[in-house]
Amino acid sequence: MPTNDIKENVKQIFSAYLVQNGHRKTPERFAILSEIYDYDGHFDIESLYIKMKNKKYRVSRATLYNTIELLLASNLVRKHQFGQNIAHFEKSHRNQQHDHLVLTDTGELIEFCDPRIQQIKETVQDLFDVEIMHHSLYFYGVKNNNKKSTDPAGKVDSKENKKNNPN
Ligand SMILES: [Zn+2]
Repeated sequence: MPTNDIKENVKQIFSAYLVQNGHRKTPERFAILSEIYDYDGHFDIESLYIKMKNKKYRVSRATLYNTIELLLASNLVRKHQFGQNIAHFEKSHRNQQHDHLVLTDTGELIEFCDPRIQQIKETVQDLFDVEIMHHSLYFYGVKNNNKKSTDPAGKVDSKENKKNNPN
């Protein structure tokens, strides 16, 4: 689906959500939604605030926090806790289903998609006769450095020595 169609789609979903729940449909809220759907990847609220401020949007932090809550409630945004103190977010509508691996030593974040997770979800749905709205799964790890040899220089070469000293 082209980006513009997705944006139109999420606008309609958000609009319907706001009306149904008695929230005002303000231009600020839709500007925030649009900004989030223009962005690929994960963001925290402070960087979104700075980004919008640099683009001359007049959006307060309070509005930003408030709107993110509404977007979470309408399932248009996912919230993550990658291990730092601050929460991260990403768009969720039509965004490929994926989970996250956090490397705690470098802070690197890896996204992966494993169809078995979808299968688990379907099994749990059938088993308990429920509709699962979302899930949360994080792996935390460090890189395996075992393969790197750490031979100190000069401590090699027993074969060469034998060649030079026959017997
Ligand atoms: Zn992600």
